[in-house]
Amino acid sequence: MPTDCSPAEHAARVAEILRAGDRFLVAAHASPDGDAIGASAGLVWLLTRMGKKAVLYNASGVPDYLEWMPLPGRVYQHLGGLPFRPEMLLALDCGDAWRLGNELSEALPRYPSVNIDHHLGNPCFGSLYNWVDPGMAAAGQMTALVADAAGISLEGELAACVYVSIVSDTGSFTHGNTSADVLLLASRLLRGGLDAGALRASLDNQWTLPKTHFWGDMLRKVRLERSGQVGVCEISLADLAARSAVRSDAEGLVEQIRRIRGVRVALLAREEAPGRTKISLRSCGDDDVRSVAAQLGGGGHKNAAGATVDLPVPEAVETVLELVKL
Ligand code: 5GP
Ligand code: MN
Repeated sequence: MPTDCSPAEHAARVAEILRAGDRFLVAAHASPDGDAIGASAGLVWLLTRMGKKAVLYNASGVPDYLEWMPLPGRVYQHLGGLPFRPEMLLALDCGDAWRLGNELSEALPRYPSVNIDHHLGNPCFGSLYNWVDPGMAAAGQMTALVADAAGISLEGELAACVYVSIVSDTGSFTHGNTSADVLLLASRLLRGGLDAGALRASLDNQWTLPKTHFWGDMLRKVRLERSGQVGVCEISLADLAARSAVRSDAEGLVEQIRRIRGVRVALLAREEAPGRTKISLRSCGDDDVRSVAAQLGGGGHKNAAGATVDLPVPEAVETVLELVKL
């Protein structure tokens, strides 16, 4: 497996694989964010424009706040009932095979697979090809490079999907991963006719009243630990229920905690089920939260990482606080 290739060389190899095939299953991680949906839906649009058959799969479907996106047809949540028998799986934005969801990760040995991802620590689970580059800001940036290699212009739905993807993973071009290449890509998308203002409005102006009230409750609960260097917010299932809010309404909250002056690590702990907690961690610069998440069986990036642990929320927070080295 070539590891020292340039991004363009990897993209060319992936484009070759796409050209040689006919029927593709394209998937991203479960509980998808804008990058997961943007990168995978973008790849389906790209394949369609190459004259291939491709379907989009996501174990959790598309979250409400992304339903306005130009999706290439139905999003399949189960492998039964696919409109054709895929000859290959293309997995995007999946730091680990299990993040594809139970059904597809169990079926993984049945499909030749290509793994296109930007998470450090990805075990390279693709059986056919692995392009894992933590230097990429978003998996959608990799989709765009594949389009370039395949000679498909970054226009229309493909461009919109790539844009949502890079906006999501760079925090609207504010995080440390906002490279010159990402800005150049955004510029190319705009030159290609993308209406960035309209897309931003669709992406940002999606709050529901339950979410708004839920955020009010949660921001009020934020507390500081470790001499003000760690900002913590604990979310119980009852907190969500109290406002009729849904799980995805908690997305983005952890970034707000990082904005508190003096906070180096933001920690959001959300009750997934009784005794099971989803941890989200954010930091800046050299403060590495991925290593903390990795010690709990999770992963991600240096400044944005997560894990799910079999502990009640307060114990999960205590465990994380012990692991954070500042
Ligand atoms: P979030 O906190 O928003 O769920 O995730 C932050 C980053 O960490 C994302 O890049 C996400 O893909 C990654 N991440 C979150 N949870 C896990 C996990 O359990 N395992 C791995 N490998 N990565 C995770
Ligand atoms: Mn991503």
